[in-house]
Amino acid sequence: VGPGSQDFVALEARFGARNYHPVPVVVDRALDCLVWDVEGREYIDMMGAYSAVSHGHLHPRVVAAAQRQLHKVAVTSRAYHGNTLGPFLAKLCTLAGFERALPMNTGAEAVETAIKCARRWGHRVKGIPDGQAEILVARNNFHGRTTTIVGFSSEPEYRAGFGPFAPGFRHFDFGDMASVRAAATPNTCAVLVEPIQGEAGVVLPPPGFFAELRDWCTAHRVLLVDDEVQAGLGRTGKWFAFEHEGIRPDALILGKALGAGLLPVSAFLADAPVMDVFDPGSHGSTFGGNALAAAVALEGLRVLEDERLVERAAQLGPHLMQRLQEVQQAAGPLIRDVRGRGLWVGVDIDPAHGNARRLVEQLARNGVLSKETHETVIRFAPPLTISAALIDRATAIFRDTVAAWRA
Ligand code: PMP
Repeated sequence: VGPGSQDFVALEARFGARNYHPVPVVVDRALDCLVWDVEGREYIDMMGAYSAVSHGHLHPRVVAAAQRQLHKVAVTSRAYHGNTLGPFLAKLCTLAGFERALPMNTGAEAVETAIKCARRWGHRVKGIPDGQAEILVARNNFHGRTTTIVGFSSEPEYRAGFGPFAPGFRHFDFGDMASVRAAATPNTCAVLVEPIQGEAGVVLPPPGFFAELRDWCTAHRVLLVDDEVQAGLGRTGKWFAFEHEGIRPDALILGKALGAGLLPVSAFLADAPVMDVFDPGSHGSTFGGNALAAAVALEGLRVLEDERLVERAAQLGPHLMQRLQEVQQAAGPLIRDVRGRGLWVGVDIDPAHGNARRLVEQLARNGVLSKETHETVIRFAPPLTISAALIDRATAIFRDTVAAWRA
């Protein structure tokens, strides 16, 4: 970190809460897959803001849509109708194959929305006594940071000291149907699950798990609620990760890339018999579905479609995977595993041989942005606009970083 950057790091340290431990890069600007720091050094963004920047930074069509809307109106709250929300929701529902969508801002808010909807559905439709609905969640899940959500996290770091937590959540082991059955009770209203566990370190489900889970949910009248905040909108090489599993969930949660890299936009989607447990006054958000967010998100969806970015992720995903497997082969025992789907790959570092956090920092010094999770897995989730040539450049730098680490 140069002297110019140091000042900004110091200001954040002096006046900011200490709830993050950022990689020491001070970003000044970004365009598409490249980022520049305040000293003008260039980086390849292989991290894409945890999959929120799937369109690339400041996609010109998304910026233009925002600028057009900024000459009209940005925020009115949902106290009034608007002429951007309806078109956005219509497009989103058509793409995802659901009857209704409820817009929020952050991923965690959309997850909270799903929890409220599932519980009320369990009470009103399934007949579970009010206040006793239970939701099954996977061990090592990540669904956000509200007190309710961290209450069912398995990660001590996310929970310690923040209790008391909300009851009504029971755990199963991701990928293990026997543990789903063991966790269920007559009061189970929903299974809330990520299609691929992102924050846990890009953990893929065993083949057939979701098909079995789908059948089980149908047989027991339990809602399958699919959190695709990180996996959705093309990241895995399909529009939605559930398509890889040959299933359709009862409800879908989207966020991150829904805001097209510009704004926080999230949504909860379901069909009418589920969504309509929300009646006027039962749920809402001042900013959810605001005119600017809706205009940006709608254009973002059109860009994904028009530029065939989902197909691109499907094509380039195997290329990224192959390059990273080559790095693994050269790296020896430092890299335990390389896994992922589409343009979303985790490189699992053996803690006996290296530290993922320090590797990520060294990789940043060498000009590639990535992020580790749980100190062991380095995550790559570049914008879906990335080229094969840029993937080659980034992975060559990673290869050299890994080689120098071992030397
Ligand atoms: N669900 C999943 C699967 C996520 O990966 C995340 C964020 N990493 C969230 C929910 C929470 O999203 P947000 O940070 O926007 O609240």
